[in-house]
Amino acid sequence: MQNNPDVTLITPTAPVATATHGGRAKCLQRLNRLDLPVPPTVALSFKAVHAIAAGQLPDLEAVLSQFDTTALLCVRPSSEDPDWGGPNAVLNIGMNDERFAALTAEMGEQAAAALYLRFVQSYAVHVARLDPDLFDAVESDGAVGLRHSLRAYEDETEEPFPQDRGEQLGAVLRSMARAWEGTSARLLRQAKGAPADAGLGLVVQEMIPGFGRGECGSGVFQLVDPVTGAQQITGRYLSQSQGRDALGPGVEAIYLERDPRGPSLEELAPEAFAALKDHAALMRRKLRAEMQVEFVIENGHVHILDGVRVPRSSRAAVRIAVRLAEDGVISPQEAVMRVEPHSLNELLHRQVHPQARRDVLTSAIAASPGAATGRIVFTAAEAQASAARGDPCILVRRETSPEDVRGMHAAAGVLTERGGMTSHAAVIGRGLGLPCIVGASEIRFQTKKRQLVAPDGRVLRTGDIITIDGSSGQVLAGEPAMLEAAQDESFQTLMAWADAERDIGIRANADTPADAQTARNFNAQGIGLCRTEHMFFEPGRLTVMREMIFAETAAGRSAVLERLLPMQREDFVQLFRIMEGQPVCIRLFDPPLHEFLPTSRQGQRELAEALDLPVSNVERRVDAMSEYNPMLGLRGVRLGVTVPEIYDMQARAIFEATLEASKKGEPVVPEVMIPLVSARREVELVKTRIDAVAAAVAFERGQEFDYRLGVMTETPRACLRAGEIAPHTAFMSFGTNDLTQMTYGLSRDDAGRFMSAYVRKGVFEEDPFHVLDADGVGELLSLAVERARAAQPGITLSICGEHGGNPESIRLCREVGFDYVSCSPFRVPVARLAAAQLAI
Ligand code: PEP
Ligand code: MG
Repeated sequence: MQNNPDVTLITPTAPVATATHGGRAKCLQRLNRLDLPVPPTVALSFKAVHAIAAGQLPDLEAVLSQFDTTALLCVRPSSEDPDWGGPNAVLNIGMNDERFAALTAEMGEQAAAALYLRFVQSYAVHVARLDPDLFDAVESDGAVGLRHSLRAYEDETEEPFPQDRGEQLGAVLRSMARAWEGTSARLLRQAKGAPADAGLGLVVQEMIPGFGRGECGSGVFQLVDPVTGAQQITGRYLSQSQGRDALGPGVEAIYLERDPRGPSLEELAPEAFAALKDHAALMRRKLRAEMQVEFVIENGHVHILDGVRVPRSSRAAVRIAVRLAEDGVISPQEAVMRVEPHSLNELLHRQVHPQARRDVLTSAIAASPGAATGRIVFTAAEAQASAARGDPCILVRRETSPEDVRGMHAAAGVLTERGGMTSHAAVIGRGLGLPCIVGASEIRFQTKKRQLVAPDGRVLRTGDIITIDGSSGQVLAGEPAMLEAAQDESFQTLMAWADAERDIGIRANADTPADAQTARNFNAQGIGLCRTEHMFFEPGRLTVMREMIFAETAAGRSAVLERLLPMQREDFVQLFRIMEGQPVCIRLFDPPLHEFLPTSRQGQRELAEALDLPVSNVERRVDAMSEYNPMLGLRGVRLGVTVPEIYDMQARAIFEATLEASKKGEPVVPEVMIPLVSARREVELVKTRIDAVAAAVAFERGQEFDYRLGVMTETPRACLRAGEIAPHTAFMSFGTNDLTQMTYGLSRDDAGRFMSAYVRKGVFEEDPFHVLDADGVGELLSLAVERARAAQPGITLSICGEHGGNPESIRLCREVGFDYVSCSPFRVPVARLAAAQLAI
C-alpha cells in the first residue's frame, strides 16, 4: 500500500492532493504535518473510489493493517470542494458482538451499546438501504434498543448482521462510492457548481469513541463567531458523545469557554480546553484560515478528527479575512480575494437573520437586495400616506411606471407581479437601495379586490404585514428577525485594499441628490449616468411637464420649459456640489413623452383642470401620442431632433449650474450624454444646438467653461457605426439594458415572464439582462470599442447599463478595455471588490 497513491496512509509526505483525494484528505494531511493529535487515517483517491463504485474494492487487508486490530473505524467523504457535499459518514465500523462484549467490560454496557447501535442503524439505512422508519419505533438507546435494532435488521434482510470488520468496511465503501455516482447526488452537487465529473475521495479513520471512563465526549471548536466574525470562542461539547451529536437539535450540549449562561468545557476539563485553544490557534496560523475543529476527548485527552473552514455569514467573512491580514497570516490581496463580491450585498442592506424562521409565501426574481417588512399597500398614494404616518409599507403593483416613483421612495420595499431584472421596478429599486422582488407571477394579484392570493391559498389584504427578501427573492408572511446593515471598520479596510488593486474606474448611476450622496459614501469615482427624466416626477413638476407636452407650438413649449429651467438647474447644482469636482455625466431626456401623461380617467380629469381644457381634449391628445412600440418610438435623441427645445433647456440648466457650482472649489466639467443614438447625423444635429447653448450661456455670464459631449451607445447600429460617431464625441457610454433588448429583440419589461423557463431549459445560460451576454452583446461591444478607438484614440469608453454592477459582466468590461463601469449606487462596493479581484 505504501507505494499506492490511490490508497495511502496519510503521513506528512504521502502523495495526497485536493484535486485527487479531496479537501478533507488534504486538510488531514496538513493537520498531520502540524503534529496535531490526529488518529491514523487512510485516504482513498477519486480514482480508487470510482473503481469501488464499479465493483473493484481495494486490498482491504492492506487498509486494515494500518489500524490497531481492535480499533473501530469511520469512513467520511472527501470531495474536492466541501460545498459539494457527499454521502453521510459511517461511524463505528468494526462493532460486532465480540467488540460489544469487550467494550461493555471496558466502558460499561450503556456506552458500548450506544456505539454498536449507532453503527447498526447507519449500516442498515446507508448500506443495506433499509427504511429508516423501521428504527423509529425502536427504543433509542441501551442494550434493549440495540437488540431490537439487530432483530429489525435481521428480520428485514433475512441475514445476520455482518460481524467481520473487513466485510463491514467493504460494504460501507461500496455504498458510499455508489451513492456519489447516483443521479440525485449528481444533480444536487451540480446545482452547487460542481462539474459533471467531480470526483469523491474517502477517508478511513481510526475512531476515538467519545464514550468511556473519565471525561470523554465530542464537539466542535472555533475561535470566531460564525455570524458576526467577532473573535470569540464558539462551539459546543457533549460528554459521552461522538460525531456531531453535540450540535443536534434539542441536545443539552455545553459551552466551550466559561459562560455565565451555563456549564462549560473550560470548567469541566481545563487542560483539554487549553490544548484545544492552542491547536485551533496553530491551525489558524498555519492553514491560514479560521477553522472549525472537530474534536474528541478521551479520558481528558484531546484528539483532532477534522478541520473545515468555519461556515460563515457574509459579514463574518469580511471580518475574518481582514483580521487574518491584519494579523499577518495572509496578505491584504488574499483577503480581498477571499470575499465573494455578491455577498457584500448582505452587508450593505438589512437582511433576514440567518437563523430566523421563514414562512415563505412565494419566490420570484430577486431584483434589488435587502429585506424589508411592512404593511401591504396597493398604490403609490397609499405608500406616501403610510410613510407620512411613519408606518413602513410594501408597495405591491402589477408593475411600476414612472408615476409610482414617489410611492417607491415612500415604501420600504416593492413587490411586482410582472417584470425582470431591468424592468422599471428593478432599476429604480436598485437605484434607491430599496429591496425589490419582481415577476412574482405565482401570486394572484387581485388589485381591484385589494388582495393577494398566495400559491397555497393564503389571502393577504391591505394592511397585512409581509416581508420581502430582495436578496433571495422570497416573499415571507409576517416579520422575521432581521440583521442590520454592517459597514463597519473591517468593511472599510477591505474596500481600501480593493481600491489599491483595481485598474478600472467605478462610477455610480445617480438621479437624485440622495443617490449622489450614497455614491459618494461608497467612494464612487463620479456619476456615470444621471437619468434626468426622473427629476420631472418630483411633486409640483409633473404638471408643468404635462403642460409642456401639451403645448401646441414651439414657442408655447419654450415658455413652459422656462418654468422647468430653474428647477433643473437647482438639481444639477446640488449634484455638482455633492460630487465635489468628480465627473458627473448627465443624460438628456430619454423616455417617450407619453410616459408622463396620466393613464387613469381620474388623472386625465385632474390634468384637464390644471390646463383648463375639456377632458375630451386631454383624452384625444393622450390617445394621439400613444405608440405601438414606445421603446422603439419617439424617445431619446429622436425627441432631441424633433422637439429640440427640451434638450436646449436641459443644456442651459446644466451649463448655468456648472458656473454656479464652480464659484466655490474646483471648476466643474459636466458631461452631457445623448441617449439612443443610432446615426452620426443625430449627433451632429444635437451637438450643434448644445454648442450654441454653451456659447450663449458663456456669453451671457461673461465666463468660459469646459464641457464634454458624449453619446450613449445602446442600439446595435450605433455599435456598428462607432467609427463614424466617435470623432464627434468625447466619450461613449454603453447602455447595455437597451442594447441587450435590441440585440436579442427581447423586451426588457416582458422577458421576466419566460426568462426562468429559458434559463431552466438551457436556452440562455443566464438572464442576459442580469449577466452581460459575452457572445452576442459582447461581440458588439468589442467591435464598437475597436472602431471607436481607431477613429478617436483618446475617447473615454464605459458602460452604464445595469450590468455595470455585476461581477461576471465587469470581467467582460475590463477585457474589452472600458475606462470605467457605472452601476446603481448600492452596487458600487460590489463592483469595487469584483474589479479588484480581476486585477489581482
Ligand atoms: C441602458 O439602456 O442601458 C440604460 C442605462 O438606460 P435606461 O436603463 O435608462 O434605458
Ligand atoms: Mg437605455
